[in-house]
Amino acid sequence: MSDELFSVSDQVVLVSGGSRGIGRELARGFVQRGACVVISSRDAESPREAADDLGGNVHTAVCDVSKPDDIQRVVETVIADHGRIDTLLNVAGVNQRQRAEAFTVDEFDFILDINLKGAYFMAIEVGKHMLEHGAGCQIHVDSLNTYSPLKGVIPYAMSKGGLQMMTRGLALEWGPRGIRVNGLAPGFILTDMTRKLWSQPHMNSWGINNSPLERLGEVGDLVGATIFLASKASAFMTGQTLYVDGGMSAGTNWPIEL
Ligand code: NAP
Repeated sequence: MSDELFSVSDQVVLVSGGSRGIGRELARGFVQRGACVVISSRDAESPREAADDLGGNVHTAVCDVSKPDDIQRVVETVIADHGRIDTLLNVAGVNQRQRAEAFTVDEFDFILDINLKGAYFMAIEVGKHMLEHGAGCQIHVDSLNTYSPLKGVIPYAMSKGGLQMMTRGLALEWGPRGIRVNGLAPGFILTDMTRKLWSQPHMNSWGINNSPLERLGEVGDLVGATIFLASKASAFMTGQTLYVDGGMSAGTNWPIEL
């Protein structure tokens, strides 16, 4: 990238949940712009497959974010191998759709342990090293559900609402110490997590008809905003959540004739 304002070329970037979907595509965006990227997820195989696909300066690690020991080990390994972490992309997440009263305690814990507790301890472990350096940038992937919850995903919406509050709280504590913390809230993006849902014709029409940009999102739609949040271009921004959602959060569409 020739534009220094948006450059991430000298960065070391850690992506939690980088093996597939949004995380993999964000990793690609950084690799293509010259960053050194470490992608992690629960098993060894899928990040390796992702690394082969991405090429460039990509490294892999195993880290189940629901396991605090995994988080500590992966952060220590990245610091030992690369010296620092400039940007954390906290992407790992899961969802389950059902009625509120149907969630078991185990299902609730599964979602919250990954999406909220896992994201928190990843932010903290990476944050400790960023605080030693007095610099760093964290981007936490929350959701359109933080603006307006969808029915059928209440534990997920709760986890993402908590993540947004974490983003704002860490921004307050760490801003004076050189670390910027922001959120990225994707709208409806086609990935393994969502493709089956949006392949149903009634869902597909609803999604398109309710989006001001009249389409669902692709993983590549999130790259520009993420590069912006990780670069000098957003140097005076922290504690914010960028909604990249085709305008879904702009307001409520209704079938009035105009
Ligand atoms: P995806 O295709 O299912 O990918 C999820 C990623 O998270 C995979 O890399 C997965 O890796 C990783 N992961 C899951 N559990 C993990 C754990 N315990 N530890 C470490 N990594 C774990 O989903 P996606 O659609 O790309 O979603 C990525 C993020 O964006 C999630 O946080 C999601 O909530 C958020 N989001 C998605 C949408 C959307 O429409 N797709 C909208 C708003 C927000 P392995 O399975 O290989 O471990």
